[in-house]
Amino acid sequence: MAGKPGRKCTICGHPERAQIEAEVQAGATLRNVAQAHGVKLGAVFRHMKNHAFIAPIEKFEVEPEPVQEAPAGIDDDDIW
Ligand SMILES: [Zn+2]
Repeated sequence: MAGKPGRKCTICGHPERAQIEAEVQAGATLRNVAQAHGVKLGAVFRHMKNHAFIAPIEKFEVEPEPVQEAPAGIDDDDIW
């Protein structure tokens, strides 16, 4: 849940959502998947963490420091 009203998840609304999830699940890096589908890395990360139907993924290969709960006020759509 969450967020500010009006802000929706780019991936949830993406026509290739299932493909994006499948690729991440298959082991592609989030960065590569994001680039392949023209979405933000942060959006993929957040979606996979919070919205994906699939089994939990433990190996997120992201280079930035692990993103914990973002402090309130951070516009997490734009950090990456
Ligand atoms: Zn989502």
